[in-house]
Amino acid sequence: MKDKNVILLGPPASGKGTQARQLAEHLSVPCLGTGKLLRNEIEKGSAVGLEAKEYMDGGRYVPDEVILKMVESWLAENPNGWLMDGFPRTLPQAEALQKIVQPTYIIALDVPREELEFRITKRRECTSCGITVAVNSIDENACPECEFGLLISRADDALDSFKVRYENYEELTLPLFDYYASLGTFNKVDGTQSPKEVFAEILNIVEK
Ligand SMILES: [Zn+2]
Repeated sequence: MKDKNVILLGPPASGKGTQARQLAEHLSVPCLGTGKLLRNEIEKGSAVGLEAKEYMDGGRYVPDEVILKMVESWLAENPNGWLMDGFPRTLPQAEALQKIVQPTYIIALDVPREELEFRITKRRECTSCGITVAVNSIDENACPECEFGLLISRADDALDSFKVRYENYEELTLPLFDYYASLGTFNKVDGTQSPKEVFAEILNIVEK
């Protein structure tokens, strides 16, 4: 049986995080997210964590070489199957990763930008308890959590921040599709389906 080394790609608001959690659990493999990895290394006070912290405290991006050091030591601790969610994010990161390890499956959630924007405008925030929920209809405005607060849309802010993140994704991460396709490990999944259907399609790929 092939090792299950899976990389999950997808634009913001594509449901990638949820799919990643479910898939990692299903395959019983650890899930690497660079945010979590950074926090862990910083908490541990490791050399590479301290290096990363310097960049972050200075309000700068942590450079690829620092991130890659963390990923490399994480891979050494988790050699028997894993899932990556949010890494690699750029072509240089993907190329550097390929020199350390060969992923078995690259799975990209494909969701058109219009659909992602629609999903974001469905999100509402409770003015009382602050929870964020997705509503099914435009006149749904009672908070399901505290049953007291009023749900309001933060769509404008959310759309602005989505726009930035989506354009970053388009510019930096989309080139990975061609790169991985050229290596023969690339699979696209229609992310406009229900989460359950998306997950079933992902399982079809990794259980082949
Ligand atoms: Zn509430």
